[in-house]
Amino acid sequence: MARASEDGVLSRLRVGVIGAGMVGVAAASYLQRSGHDVVLIDAGNPGEGASFGNAGCLNGSSVVPMSMPGVVRNVPRWLFDPLGPLSIRWRYLPLLAPWLIRFIRAGTPERVEAQARALRSLLKPSLDRLAPLVRDAGAEDLVLRLGHLFAYRSEASFAKERTAWRLRADNGVDWDEFNADELHQLEPALSRDYVRGIVVRENGHIANPLRLVQRLAETVVRHGGALKRARVTGFDVSDGRLRAIRTDNGAIQADRAVIAAGAHSRPLAAALGDHVPLETERGYHLMIRDPETMPRIPTADADGKFVATPMETGLRFAGTVELASLDAAPDWRRARILLDQGRRMLPGLARHHPEKRISVWMGRRPSMPDSLPVIGHSRGSRDVVYAFGHGHVGMVAAPMTGKLVAELIDGSPPSVDLAPFRADRF
Ligand SMILES: Cc1cc2nc3c(=O)[nH]c(=O)nc-3n(C[C@H](O)[C@H](O)[C@H](O)COP(=O)(O)OP(=O)(O)OC[C@H]3O[C@@H](n4cnc5c(N)ncnc54)[C@H](O)[C@@H]3O)c2cc1C
Repeated sequence: MARASEDGVLSRLRVGVIGAGMVGVAAASYLQRSGHDVVLIDAGNPGEGASFGNAGCLNGSSVVPMSMPGVVRNVPRWLFDPLGPLSIRWRYLPLLAPWLIRFIRAGTPERVEAQARALRSLLKPSLDRLAPLVRDAGAEDLVLRLGHLFAYRSEASFAKERTAWRLRADNGVDWDEFNADELHQLEPALSRDYVRGIVVRENGHIANPLRLVQRLAETVVRHGGALKRARVTGFDVSDGRLRAIRTDNGAIQADRAVIAAGAHSRPLAAALGDHVPLETERGYHLMIRDPETMPRIPTADADGKFVATPMETGLRFAGTVELASLDAAPDWRRARILLDQGRRMLPGLARHHPEKRISVWMGRRPSMPDSLPVIGHSRGSRDVVYAFGHGHVGMVAAPMTGKLVAELIDGSPPSVDLAPFRADRF
């Protein structure tokens, strides 16, 4: 449905979508379904940002914010253990302090409950919202609905997550629990060290995140959209109306724009008068090509805070959080640690792998302190819509975000309450 103007005539708008990651391609796909002309603009190739190397989990159950009650007690450990599941680089502490303070403040019980509800509104419909796009792209082989396993090495580590599981239950997430023997039958590849497992059956995963984004971007082009290689530098706005999107390769005329530039969205929002506390939580992956064994479904090690995902290109261990600046050099030790942890999780893996079968990656999660994205109109012009800041859940939140972007541009009532996602909430 294209946007209805005041006289009731449906208008076809030219919309520039900045960023061809999972969020941008989902927005572009939904905008086309609404009848608009789309130009996807990316400084690089589609899907080569954070959407490239994530764990590929489409977990509707991911409603637990990163900042939870009592989080402040963990900060010293994050500072002193550079190889722990979450670490902060000392050098960047002065830069990160304002974000960290907001992050800690976001962890009160009341705020956490509200954030979980808001997250669920984006995540629960994910697979249903993704299905038509995947069908249209002929990419059904890339999206699987097999569930997600959370594995615990001790009853104590399970007990530590009691609040997290209560939050999931309060938001309508169901699961099945398994004791040590049942867990071994369910997933024989897993080490006997794990004593408890939980399977959330509603969750899905992507067999190759890069290929999915590429297929969705190709489909946008097949339906008449354009793909432009350019770095967006700002906007021409007069009297509150967007005139053009400025790039390092000339101006692009557009009636509307969507900012879906992931971790790089902050300066673009600032150009429109919105100073959002967007930082990056960097994460790593390590992949083994032709692994000796793989879990059947994505399996999270609750203590190590990483996920082992069976993918079409091999076995991917992904996760961990490193707080440093956008441009800090990667610390590849953090990726290598995933291999040691992965071998402990799956004892059937070889003790040594030739380097040619191993690959590592670092990516930048676009993260807001309250674990919620920014979705809504910009302050400087209602013609520009934000869709960034999805942190740990950008792949799973993208389909619903895409639909909301189209609703905002059409001026139709949004499918979910957008108040928690306002740019000016801090
Ligand atoms: C280790 C790890 C594991 C993860 N696991 C999961 C998971 O299992 N499930 C899940 O849902 N999420 C997961 N995530 C998070 C997820 O990957 C991100 O939230 C998601 O990819 C963000 O998508 P995006 O489209 O917003 O950003 P990106 O994929 O980063 O895309 C942004 C695009 O914008 C472009 N761009 C930036 N600036 C400009 C500019 N000025 N002009 C033009 N183009 C620009 C970039 O080139 C890039 O292509 C994980 C992340 C990491 C790091």
